[in-house]
Amino acid sequence: MLLPGGGVLIDTPGMREFHLWDAEVSEGFPDIEALGVDCRFRDCHHHQEPDCAVQAAARAGTLDPARLAAFHKLQDEQDQAARTRREKGSR
Ligand SMILES: [Zn+2]
Repeated sequence: MLLPGGGVLIDTPGMREFHLWDAEVSEGFPDIEALGVDCRFRDCHHHQEPDCAVQAAARAGTLDPARLAAFHKLQDEQDQAARTRREKGSR
């Protein structure tokens, strides 16, 4: 794969991978999505936001805190992927 345009060939699978992350966050946590409907903010990340229904559920024990942690981990990785994607795109 030592073509002059090799960079494009290397970047393409990466983009596909990021796309999978996007799908995983929105489809992999239907319970958190459902709880998130009751959050004060529509774009709530369920981190430190006030009146967050997901955090409340984790505190009340109706949502497994480990599950919320997994959601945040995936969210962070997705954020990082989006940032990397933006940096690559601006070049
Ligand atoms: Zn929330």
